[in-house]
Amino acid sequence: MRIDILTLFPEMCNAVMSESIIGRARKAGKVEINCIDIRNYTLDKHRRVDDKPYGGGMGMIMAPQPIYDCYLSLCEEIGTKPHLIYLTPQGKTLTQGRIKELARLDNIALLCGHYEGIDERVIEALEPEEISVGDYVLTGGELPALIVADAVSRILPGVLSGEESFEEESHFNSLLEYPQYTHPAEWQGREVPEVLLSGHHANVEKWRREQSLKRTLERRPDMLDNADLSKEDIEFLSNLKRD
Ligand code: SAM
Repeated sequence: MRIDILTLFPEMCNAVMSESIIGRARKAGKVEINCIDIRNYTLDKHRRVDDKPYGGGMGMIMAPQPIYDCYLSLCEEIGTKPHLIYLTPQGKTLTQGRIKELARLDNIALLCGHYEGIDERVIEALEPEEISVGDYVLTGGELPALIVADAVSRILPGVLSGEESFEEESHFNSLLEYPQYTHPAEWQGREVPEVLLSGHHANVEKWRREQSLKRTLERRPDMLDNADLSKEDIEFLSNLKRD
């Protein structure tokens, strides 16, 4: 899969995408991530990419031309139109379900706004999918784009090693993950649940499933509507609700 991040701050994005699991996956060729500088496409002789808003008001607006030309140049280079996503607080809130769908695409391009946002006409012209990472406002789309790039990349085949898996993690199957522990078995008088030390695989699996259901019921009962629940799960949850 190829992910292109269209940004005014390519070094910032590249630095984050060069570390740890994603950095290793890039080196191993499991995912291609490019950070493209929108400024390289401006036709302004002073290399400006923004200007004051028409109608007055605070801040600066990113001009349409550099963004449009940057995306067109990318399409030419790849020989196809990558699925374009504009990161904006006005978009649909990102979910793991949407991440799973995006991970099936060959190419995505992530457009980062900055300052007060981008000129509406380039949104009309390019018709990107609009995604928000939550109901709050950041200074730029770089952190949201990195969130999308990270969440998509980590579920691509071969990115996580055999020891790491994402199927049981929070949100993957509309459940929150069970609590996790590592050494030592006792820390500050707090012990690791005995079942996890038992070596009894089936009991560990049962405990984890129940903890996962319990946590989801306590913290995010709304998620249970979309979870794939067995007869035992439903019975366990009804008992919890009764208690
Ligand atoms: N004036 C815009 C508004 O009220 O909708 C907000 C602009 S924000 C200060 C600058 C840029 O940050 C946006 O163009 C967008 O790319 C990004 N951004 C800020 N918050 C975001 C969020 N919650 N999700 C995704 N992108 C966000």
